[in-house]
Amino acid sequence: MAEAKENVLMEKIVSLCKRRGFIFQSSEIYGGINGFWDYGPLGAEIKRNLRDAWWHAMMRERDDCVGLDASIILHRAVWKASGHEDTFADPMSTCKHCKKLIRSDQWWTLMAEQSWVQSLAALGQPGTDAFPTGDLLKWAKGKGKQLAPNLALVRNPEVTLSWLAQEVEKGNRPKDAREFYLFLATEQLGATGFITPCPHCGGELTEPRPFNLMLRTNYGPIASEENLAYLRPETAQAIFVQFKNVFDSSRVKVPFGIGQIGKAFRNEITPRNFTFRSREFEQMELEFFIPPDEAVQLLHGTVAEWREGADLSVPQPNWGWELWHRYWVAQRTEFYRGIGLGADVLDYHWQKPAELAHYARACVDILFKFPFGTEELEGIAARGDFDLMQHQKHSGKSLELFDDALRAAATKLTEEQRCSFVAEVQEDWNDHHKSREDAAAFCEKLFRGVYVPHVIEPSAGLDRLTLAVLCAAYHEEQKADVNGKVEQRTVLRFHPRTAPIKVGIFPLLKNKPELVAKARAVFNLLKSHCNCFYDENGAIGRRYARQDEIGTPFCVTIDFDTLGEKPELLDTVTLRHRDDGRQDRVKISELLALLLEKLR
Ligand code: ATP
Repeated sequence: MAEAKENVLMEKIVSLCKRRGFIFQSSEIYGGINGFWDYGPLGAEIKRNLRDAWWHAMMRERDDCVGLDASIILHRAVWKASGHEDTFADPMSTCKHCKKLIRSDQWWTLMAEQSWVQSLAALGQPGTDAFPTGDLLKWAKGKGKQLAPNLALVRNPEVTLSWLAQEVEKGNRPKDAREFYLFLATEQLGATGFITPCPHCGGELTEPRPFNLMLRTNYGPIASEENLAYLRPETAQAIFVQFKNVFDSSRVKVPFGIGQIGKAFRNEITPRNFTFRSREFEQMELEFFIPPDEAVQLLHGTVAEWREGADLSVPQPNWGWELWHRYWVAQRTEFYRGIGLGADVLDYHWQKPAELAHYARACVDILFKFPFGTEELEGIAARGDFDLMQHQKHSGKSLELFDDALRAAATKLTEEQRCSFVAEVQEDWNDHHKSREDAAAFCEKLFRGVYVPHVIEPSAGLDRLTLAVLCAAYHEEQKADVNGKVEQRTVLRFHPRTAPIKVGIFPLLKNKPELVAKARAVFNLLKSHCNCFYDENGAIGRRYARQDEIGTPFCVTIDFDTLGEKPELLDTVTLRHRDDGRQDRVKISELLALLLEKLR
């Protein structure tokens, strides 16, 4: 029924992150601030590697995407137009007793983590014939008092249990575990129905109400409604708002993308699972602008349809939104594979029509198997022209593009062909509850080569990705030390591209100046090409173990053979591989090229 309270693996990862300087609680010496995190020296390196990998794959390696770095605070009208001011909300309940705030749609997940729920679950399953009334009474008068003091069963055990007994007698037994806790929180079934217990104290939760997640601030010296602003809850809107400027100033043509990496803020009701749900986080978002399918139809006579096994490797001019959407799912999957997150740790959730936002045509979440559950890493949505249309409407500025080839294609149509094209579009739009007049006006513009592009949006979280990379890398292994004593060691098996330190460089002994000088020379040779760490302290095995624990994929040791003790090994070093412990002898002159090849 309830999961173990402590996720042991997650606790180990959190503790390692603090101990070795990956991630710290923000403002820790003042007691911390919930939902905010700081990346220490190693965490900052991983984040930078991931940020660079995304930028490289999405901007630099493509000739159809360009970057943007927009401000965090935008005009308030942006959030009005995007719908965030009115609807970017999560349902929230408040506990009438302990006053804690609960995100209502996370109620059951939070319940499952509580000690009182776990201790009650251990008494027996609701729905079985032997309803554990005696045990419940004992629990209410004992453990319950400490664990859930405001639960009806604890405050008033006899009344709650006798009501419960009557209901069971009438055949109204709780149908599942969730309902069982509603029964225990409800002394008497009133007109308002069951009471939902607070996961923290068992008290009564209020009905859910929408809570806007945008963090508010003011600009200028006086705080008032006039200068109210929001810290952006996503980076995407700035891309839409600057879409025309980017288009007019860069030599891009549809289809093309604008990408951005930057901070976003959400006043999450219950930040949780380490950095997974934070109040300040970083997003990596691409808005990829494509022509509407109707324009593709006019230009190419057909819109290619997606079929299982379709070749998605090279975009084609006759692709419509569906193939472009599938293409981006494939591209993003390939990106994750390239940094070591393969099919074994990823999953996909294709949103069902009822889950989709009203304007979205499709949305798939790429999920990662975190120790606390399989959860979203990135969402890839086909958003139609919703965003640009909203900003066009609210700003009064045209966000339309002109395509001469489209106009030329339309001029070749006979009047009859035009009419049947418009009729087809009207029929199609009717299926999507859009008016015939709007469809006709849209076609008129298309015939003149004018349209507002549609968009595919791959939107990933950098902090979630950093956490995923840390979780995927975490391994424990048993290893015998030099005396044969078996000890447990932690190894972070980062992909070389994501590892915070790429190479550890060690002189065999620190009291031999020739070894130290040579090791320093190797360090100087490599340091401007990749992040290296020089370490001369402790036995070499300990130094390897320290690097394994922070995930350094390669270590280089400079020994007496490097100095020519065996003449044939002069100017060679030992290159040790983290994952299999293999040690190769490598010429210093070949070391850089060899490492750079492995770090690509
Ligand atoms: P969720 O359903 O988990 O709240 P979402 O669907 O609201 O996420 P999007 O608005 O699609 O998320 O944001 C895109 C990406 O930004 C997410 O896939 C995630 O990686 C990241 N992200 C969103 N909210 C947070 C958060 N509170 N903390 C960390 N990362 C986040």
